Amino acid sequence: MDDRVIAFIGLGQMGLPMTRRLRGAGFEVRGADLSAAARDAFVADGGQAFASPMEAANGSGVLITMLPDATVVRDALLGAGNAAAALAPGALVIDMSSSAPMATRRLGADLAARGLTLIDAPVSGGVKRAVVGTLAIMAGGEAAAIERARPVLLAMGQSIFSTGPLGSGHAMKALNNYVSAAGLAAACEALIVGRHFGIAPETIVDVLNASTGRNNSTEVKLKPFVLSGSFASGFSMALMAKDLRTAADLAATLGDDVPGIADAAALWEQAAAALGKGADHTEIFRFLAEASA
Ligand code: NAD
Repeated sequence: MDDRVIAFIGLGQMGLPMTRRLRGAGFEVRGADLSAAARDAFVADGGQAFASPMEAANGSGVLITMLPDATVVRDALLGAGNAAAALAPGALVIDMSSSAPMATRRLGADLAARGLTLIDAPVSGGVKRAVVGTLAIMAGGEAAAIERARPVLLAMGQSIFSTGPLGSGHAMKALNNYVSAAGLAAACEALIVGRHFGIAPETIVDVLNASTGRNNSTEVKLKPFVLSGSFASGFSMALMAKDLRTAADLAATLGDDVPGIADAAALWEQAAAALGKGADHTEIFRFLAEASA
């Protein structure tokens, strides 16, 4: 079994630059994606693409998924994609998607029954940090499996946190995105009200960034994606809404009555439905601005 041969399923906004980092670090990467356009972009980038997850998995010691959600990950491994069938016992599966922790535990048990090891290792930092290989990676699973994955993860990320048992990386990722989404929505509301009062939008952002209201969104999202009107962060509204639903479901499963998470999940679900499939998550500003008028 060769851990330097990696099947990579999901060549989208994040997956493509992550495969570039892996190839640059000397790994052989066998890519697969449902979308022909994504496969073509991977080939144009110098990658080796396969029509199905199962074909990509053939002969790989490690399989990485970077897919929209837990349902799609399960489908790629055990459903229509059937990648697990092509992996030899002892192979390592790393789900780097932002999946759902309870589903990840179930998937881990089903893969273990086939002799396969699963860890969850979702990422934070967006497309920009995927390109330069400085993602934050939160890894859940057996310590030995995380150690085995470390050289692979280090090709894509800078800080690798062991968060605990299987599913804990996915739990942490959903909670992180709740905090991130809440910070962005709060900053957008401040922009709407401040601008209405007559304060220049650039001034609002500059003051926030020099004050206690500063957060990641005020620093790296407001000017380039919101004030510019580009709304091109590379992270969709639908995926953010999914992450907040994951965080709300986790809280509900644990019996934690936390109204902020529930409210955020409802707000972003509404925004995703109103703005449609192609919307970027920074368009929460447009949704809040229209709703406030
Ligand atoms: P994306 O939609 O750009 O890419 C997902 C890819 O998966 C697409 O190319 C799609 O064709 C492919 N796909 C869907 N179903 C498939 C299947 N059954 N088999 C094979 N391929 C399939 O999404 P993304 O922005 O790259 O996000 C991927 C994951 O990373 C998500 O879970 C997201 O929440 C998470 N994430 C995204 C960002 C970001 O900034 N974009 C940051 C951190 C985490």
